[in-house]
This record gives sequence, C-alpha cells and structure tokens, in this order.
Amino acid sequence: LFDYQVESTSTNETVKTLFKTTLHRPILATTEKQTQGRGRRGRVWHSPYAQNCYLSLGYRFNAALSELSGLSLVVGLAFAEALSELNFPVELKWPNDLYLNGKKLGGILVELEGTFDAPCDVIIGVGLNVNMPLNDDGTEQIDQAWTSLSQYKGEVVDRTHLLLIIIPKLESFLAIFEQQGFTKFAQLWPQYDRYIDQAVNIISAEKVITGIAQGINEQGELLLQTEQGLLNISGGEISLRPV
Ligand code: ATP
Repeated sequence: LFDYQVESTSTNETVKTLFKTTLHRPILATTEKQTQGRGRRGRVWHSPYAQNCYLSLGYRFNAALSELSGLSLVVGLAFAEALSELNFPVELKWPNDLYLNGKKLGGILVELEGTFDAPCDVIIGVGLNVNMPLNDDGTEQIDQAWTSLSQYKGEVVDRTHLLLIIIPKLESFLAIFEQQGFTKFAQLWPQYDRYIDQAVNIISAEKVITGIAQGINEQGELLLQTEQGLLNISGGEISLRPV
C-alpha cells in the first residue's frame, strides 16, 4: 500500500493510523512536509517543504521483537549501500544516523506497534535531506552540522531516481535480516562505520561513558573499549558523540 500526502504530522503517525484501518502490509507512507517530524526522545526532525525525503515503511516481521535487535542498523546499511551506489559516500553513526562529508544527512526512527510477539508490526521512519538548501528557513534550529545530497553534489537530486534504488535495497535487506538474522550486516557495518577506532562518549539518561569505539558485535551492539574493559552497549535511548 502506498500513501502520499502533501503534508502530514509525521509519516510514522500515518503508518500507525493505516495499521489500524488496513491489514495490508507493507505500507509505504511519504510526504512533502512533516509538521511534527520527530527524532528519538521526542527531538524534532526539521521537515520543511524542500524536495526532501520523509518516508515510513510499515512492515510485518514473522519474528518476535527480541529477534529484531539490529533493525535500525540494517535500515541504515540499506540506505548507505544504495546511496554509495549513487556515488554519495555515506557513513553511519551507531545506531541510527546517516552522515555525508562529516555532517548529518539523515536519521532513522524505528517504532513498534502492537505486540512484542511474532508477527511483529514495526514502523521504520527515515528523514533524508535530499535538496534542502543551506539557507532554508528554520534550519538554524538544527543544533549540529548538517548537509543534503544536493549540497554535496552541487545540483538538484531527483527523488524518484533515488527511491527506485533505495526502496528495493531496503526490501531486500529486510528480507535477508528476517530470514538469516544480523550476521551478514555485522560484516558489512565496518565499511560504513564513521567512528571506528575513535574516542567517543556514550551518553544515556544516567551517565556518560568514554571509550574507544571498536565497531559492533553479532547482535549490533556497540563495542566500547574503556578503562574497565570492553563493554557491549545496546541501542535504545543512547547517543554517541565524538570526544
Ligand atoms: P544525535 O544525532 O543527536 O546523536 P539522535 O540520533 O538521538 O542523536 P535523531 O533522533 O536522529 O538524533 O534526530 C534529532 C536530531 O537531529 C536533532 O536534535 C537535530 O540535532 C538533528 N536534526 C533535526 N532535523 C535535522 C535535519 N533535517 N537534518 C539533519 N539533522 C537534523
């Protein structure tokens, strides 16, 4: 099922509404502008009418939620592979951000709807700056360095062309993940890992842990070398920042 709106609150919300009214899966929701675009922890995803890409995929996994750790990394890898094929050398910041030229290009927000048991309905939301100009109104609210594909390329980027590469890649990665688990993706991750071997702070609500990022393990957890030894950090409400 495909849903396109000129304006929506957020494409993740669109999918949640459609989940209630149709049994059709998957659902792909897109919009030109989000009035309440969100990142993690209720943070704002700046989503103006600017020829960008705001999309959400409502997807049913024949798996329990406990088997889906690593999902946001798989989504990031699908985007990174597709964009690399289009000559955008994208990097990934664990667990859920896309970077280009050292600046934030896109974010991924995975949410669950319904039960934790199989089958499991998830909502995979992605915001990608495709053609957002540097002087776009409101971008001064973005509190970190950001970029867009058009800024990198120096010309307007065709979104249809982009999605024709990205969506099949995403579908195939999700099918492989569902059938074979995370192993293949753990092997692919180092190609795109932005902070490998770098000093980083891992920030959660309770504390900050400093260490050297050592990539990820077979479950998609971040490996952090600290003075206390090697720690496995699982996703959730955690931010990684360079020291
Ligand atoms: P962070 O990037 O701060 O480590 P995060 O993964 O928790 O953390 P997200 O939830 O992906 O962040 O996105 C929210 C953050 O992304 C905002 O706080 C803002 O700094 C930045 N941001 C918001 N809109 C955009 C945008 N259109 N392009 C790039 N960055 C944005």
